[in-house]
Amino acid sequence: MKKGNLPETEANLLEAGKNLLEMTVQELADFMGEAGEAPFRGRQIFKWIQSGAETFDEMSNLPLKLRGKLAEQAYIGLPEVLEVQRDESDGTKKLLFGLKDENCVEGVFMKYRYGSSICVSSQVGCKMGCTFCASALGGFVRNLTAGEMLGQILAAEKICGEKVNHVVVMGMGEPFDNYDSLSRFLRLLHEPLGKGMSYRNITVSTSGIIPAIERFGDDFPQVNLAVSLHRADSRGRSRIMPVNEAYPLETLLKAVRNHTEKTGRRVTFEYALIRGENDSDKDVKLLKEKLRGMLCHVNLIPLNRVDESGFQGSSRRRAEEIAAELVKSGIPATVRRELGAGIDGACGQLRRRRG
Ligand code: SAH
Repeated sequence: MKKGNLPETEANLLEAGKNLLEMTVQELADFMGEAGEAPFRGRQIFKWIQSGAETFDEMSNLPLKLRGKLAEQAYIGLPEVLEVQRDESDGTKKLLFGLKDENCVEGVFMKYRYGSSICVSSQVGCKMGCTFCASALGGFVRNLTAGEMLGQILAAEKICGEKVNHVVVMGMGEPFDNYDSLSRFLRLLHEPLGKGMSYRNITVSTSGIIPAIERFGDDFPQVNLAVSLHRADSRGRSRIMPVNEAYPLETLLKAVRNHTEKTGRRVTFEYALIRGENDSDKDVKLLKEKLRGMLCHVNLIPLNRVDESGFQGSSRRRAEEIAAELVKSGIPATVRRELGAGIDGACGQLRRRRG
């Protein structure tokens, strides 16, 4: 890719040579081949990078001369962890990552009984403009590269001292608005020489970009899909989620139905409960009608307060009531465990507080 064709920020990323974190095993093998080295060196380098190496000096099975050559031509661009907010009660850590061009994004590391999970960002800012979301407030800055998404995981594992075995792409940004980097990232995660993460342990969340849902079902039928619904009537949904103008609710639900048929996998609907906006009995009734018979699960999340939006979350009690009501009508639903309640939980909030 020519530097001249890129927006300035992305061009800066190429300044200091090749970022090997972006590359697949095959690309690394080719890179070594072109440099007159044996292609298996590429596989060795890939393994090192995936286990968190940041310098070529650490790569003890590479000849010294090669390590020196690599250091001249390439680098491993892990993001810098600028801030960690810890919630000691449940082990959740909210991380602020600094990127090479001084932009930052957020991630959340969460502990579960059976391992740990990380929520990663896919863009700096977001174009979707959801009215209740902190990420939308500053507008869109740029897409993240696949290496920047993977880098959040490697950097988090280092700082938390633990390996991650589940990944959710639910941080800042709309992953389906950055599809090419997202798919490269998913393939890097799945690569057996690296983390070899099962696609079933990965979830991607979208505000509802229909053509990308269709493509995703073909490309990654085993990766879990989450769709941000937040309202069951189209007009109301458009008010809080402008993406609904382009991809209206009924068509979205049809696309999700096709997706479950194609993949045989249950889709998660996220529903952020906003007091007086989408949590009335009427809203719940409509939600039940719309989702009846679908292979789905509803994840109810009392809204995290974002001061600028003027919205407030529903009470935990109301959330439990709605979950019970949905379950009674045969729609699996849970209220999201409130992880990290003591920290700036909503996506985009840590970055905004700092800015
Ligand atoms: N753009 C993608 C993924 C990022 S947001 C998407 O829209 O799905 C991850 C989830 O957090 C989405 O369901 C989003 O609507 C929700 N969210 C955003 N702001 C929130 C807030 N203040 N409180 C609770 N959930 C919020």
